[in-house]
Order: sequence, then structure tokens, then C-alpha cells
Amino acid sequence: MRKSWPQPIPSSRLDGLPPLREVAAAHGLLAKKSLGQNFLFDLNLTGRIARAAAPLTNATIVEIGPGPGGLTRSLLAEGARKIIAVERDTRCIPVLSEIANNYPGRLDVIEGDALETDFAVLTGGESPTRVCANLPYRIATALLVRWLQTEPWPPWFDRLVLMFQREVAERIVAGPAERAAYGRLAVLSNWRCETRILFDIPAAAFTPRPKVRSSLVELMPRAAPFACDAKLLSEVAQAAFGQRRKMLRQSLKSLAGSDAAGLLARADIDPTLRAEEIGIEGFVALARALSPPS
Ligand code: SAM
Repeated sequence: MRKSWPQPIPSSRLDGLPPLREVAAAHGLLAKKSLGQNFLFDLNLTGRIARAAAPLTNATIVEIGPGPGGLTRSLLAEGARKIIAVERDTRCIPVLSEIANNYPGRLDVIEGDALETDFAVLTGGESPTRVCANLPYRIATALLVRWLQTEPWPPWFDRLVLMFQREVAERIVAGPAERAAYGRLAVLSNWRCETRILFDIPAAAFTPRPKVRSSLVELMPRAAPFACDAKLLSEVAQAAFGQRRKMLRQSLKSLAGSDAAGLLARADIDPTLRAEEIGIEGFVALARALSPPS
């Protein structure tokens, strides 16, 4: 019987490593839905995402979910000083080790769950540290909310450059004018960061192709956001937007009970307004009014 030998995998011009599709096929990396795997195989596109996180040459980049390593390779090729990549899927680790070998000392791969990771400890206070990731959508919002509630502030990162589903991206950057999108996520995000959508990525760019397009979002930490307790701000926004069609004197009863009117008076907010009619300062005033006097 004739033996068939595997075809040699051609290397890419980016870094001499094989093209991503071939790497994924050779390692049997079929995308798993349970891990939110939608891979980017176009190194031109991952290069564009990596450049959105520039300047890279003096930076430590935290990447969540490197998968087969497209964005990782682009970040390295664009000159990232160091990458710390956290990946939950064991199958990806050999591929990532090959990339690490190609860039000695510049890529640390951590096999683990990003939701269980203490990033301030992991990055060890290195500065500047930036997050750049094509996030697994199932945990994207949870991770962002966690990072936004980092204490102390300013946080361990100097910028977040993150991929979200377009609808989530709109909910991050929204102000009161974007009524449907404005909610707790926008309040938390814009309280502590300046936010903007950088560009869209069509669904067809991903393998497998998701139902919706995605957007790359930049969140730049504010040096001195209005002082208030992050947890109380989240709770008050949750309660207010939980019944967004109702007046605040009604919706805030779920949080403050019979003191809802008193809370609004202490925050100097018209009780007949609805959540979508007040800006970040209003939510901050409510969170402060909820704090026990010190
Ligand atoms: N960065 C790759 C790319 O752009 O092609 C893959 C992006 S894919 C949308 C999300 C990645 O996150 C997958 O590699 C998946 O295995 C990984 N992942 C999923 N849940 C994770 C978790 N809790 N912690 C760390 N990585 C996770």
C-alpha cells in the first residue's frame, strides 16, 4: 500500500509560521460553540486590530482567548514587547507554544479561565499594560464589567481594545440620546472610560460565521472619574434600567423600597424622570446618595 505523506504547510510572509487555516486544520482545531470560538484567519484583519492597540513596542499586551493565534501573531509581528495570553482550550496550547518559540521571551501562554484570573497579579504592575482581544462573546460583558469595577482606579490597564458583537458595542458607547442602547453597561463604561467604536468587522470574516457583525471598541480609562462606589453605581443603574419605562420614583423601589423618593431628593433628581433621561452624573449622584454617610 502506498503511504501518503502530509503536504508541507506553506509559511506565511508575516512571520514564517504556517498560514492560520492550515495550522488549525493540522491541529484539529474545529471551533467549539461552547467556548465562543469564532476564529479570525485573515492576518491582514488581525493586523488591523493589532495596530488599533498601538503603540506596541513598549507595551505588555494581555490577550484573552488567543485560540489558534491569529491576533497573537499580528500583535507580535507589529512589535508588542510582551504578550500574556490566557486561553481556556487545551487544544490551542501546542499551537501557541509554536508561536512562542518563534518569538523567544515575548509570549507567555497561560492555560486557564479568564473569569478566574486576577489580571493585576498576573501582569505584576508592568506598565503600560493594555488588553487587546477578540473576546469569547459569552463572557465578554462579564469580563468588561469586572475590569470596569477594578480597584484601585486608575487600573492595571492603560487601554482596552476589544471585539464585541455590534449590538453590545452600541450598548457600551451609548449616551442618553441613544435611548434603546443606553443602560447599565453604558453607565459603567462611560463613568470610568472614554469609549468609542473603532471599526466594524463583517460576520464573514469569522470561522464559523456568526449571525451578526462585530465591532472593535476602545475604552480609555479616565484619570479621575467622578468619585463613587462602583458596586452601588452598578446596582442603582440595574434597578433604574430594570424598569426603564417607569419613572425613577417607581423603578428605584426595587432597590430603595419606600425610600426611593428620599433617595432621589438626596441626589437632587426629578423623581418623574426615567432612567434613560439622566446622564452619568445623575447615576453617580444616586450612588453617592445610597452610600452610608462616612
Ligand atoms: N483570538 C482568536 C481569534 O481571533 O481567532 C480566537 C477568538 S474566539 C472568539 C475566543 C477564544 O476565547 C477561543 O479561543 C476560546 O477558546 C477562548 N475562551 C473561551 N472562554 C474562555 C475563558 N473563559 N477564558 C479564556 N479563554 C476563553
